[in-house]
Amino acid sequence: MLRRGRKRVELHLHLEGAATPRDALFLASKYHSSGIDEKTVGELYAHHGLGDFLRHFGTVASLLREPGDLVWLLGKLLRRLASQRVAYAEIRVSPSVWERHGLEPEPGLKALCAARFKGAVLYQFIVDGVRQWDRPLLERDLGLALQFRKQGVAGFGLGGDEAAAPARLFAWLAAACREERMPLLVHAGEALGPEEVAGAVDILGAKRIGHGIGAAGDPVLMRRLAGEAIHLEVCPSSNYATGAVPMGTPHPVGLLVKHRVAVSLSTDDPGLFCTSLAREERIARRAGLSEADITRCNEAAARAALLAPKEREALAGMV
Ligand SMILES: [Zn+2]
Repeated sequence: MLRRGRKRVELHLHLEGAATPRDALFLASKYHSSGIDEKTVGELYAHHGLGDFLRHFGTVASLLREPGDLVWLLGKLLRRLASQRVAYAEIRVSPSVWERHGLEPEPGLKALCAARFKGAVLYQFIVDGVRQWDRPLLERDLGLALQFRKQGVAGFGLGGDEAAAPARLFAWLAAACREERMPLLVHAGEALGPEEVAGAVDILGAKRIGHGIGAAGDPVLMRRLAGEAIHLEVCPSSNYATGAVPMGTPHPVGLLVKHRVAVSLSTDDPGLFCTSLAREERIARRAGLSEADITRCNEAAARAALLAPKEREALAGMV
């Protein structure tokens, strides 16, 4: 249980993956999508490995057909985050995925940035590019992140399939982000091992890594991550659902915390994984984290947030 009055920080969640079965049903009926109904929607939310999950992510994302759908889903997500006492969230959005399903990237991002929901949850966007698709798409998405930087976008994410497109292919992207002073947030070490986490640090200069659990197999790398204050956004439910961590085994977050690596807990795709930060905390406790460790995770998240130093400290004081 989170102590009375304390807040949570959520650094890694994807808007498209925040759609719950009820949200998917609503959108399916709005667009008369055949094949998704009360009887079949459960299949979209039961994943058997990474390939299965990615297919489901695409199907749910395909139900977002116009900018208003993105804004509607954002509003629902923010209400859920507020009910979980989340004070601050960084929300990833994937314009190239929208585009595959007919939703124009620029109007979609413009609508999200213009929505400016006011409430208990302070939030910013990270534009997430899909690494295994064409380079021009990544360049276009980085351009969108820069275009909307002053309107709610705080960083650029490198997401997608790291096995198909490892970190060593993206030195050019890291250089472009550095030149523009745009923070680059890299998914790495989700399905692959320590060499990919090290590659994200060495080749891309990553200070924050999505997942990073591959590092848990390498004590030398864990010591290095701790020493260099590299932050890992750990998403336990996601790792079990995609098969990155086998069911029935303790989650490696326990090992990472034991080696003093800076980690935070996140939901990744809270709708598709039917999870919440409270559930992620329960899994982390089963992996050996104490209440003090959970508080430290929230403090580490606050200090790794894409905010000005004063705002980070203020946030750290709330968790
Ligand atoms: Zn992710």
